[in-house]
Amino acid sequence: MTDTLPACPSCASPYTYEMGTLLVCPECAHEWSPTEAAEAEAAAVIKDAHGTPRPTATTW
Ligand SMILES: [Zn+2]
Repeated sequence: MTDTLPACPSCASPYTYEMGTLLVCPECAHEWSPTEAAEAEAAAVIKDAHGTPRPTATTW
């Protein structure tokens, strides 16, 4: 099952829970992504999409 969440990498607390795409630790309030590699890749795509700003297109 994929219901098993990893322990907090900061304080090793097993009481982590999911919040959106992030994992949250209630013990130390640490938030992290369980799929950093995939998220970084997605972020790169998003950044690339936003990486072409058009200052003249938003001045009207
Ligand atoms: Zn923690």
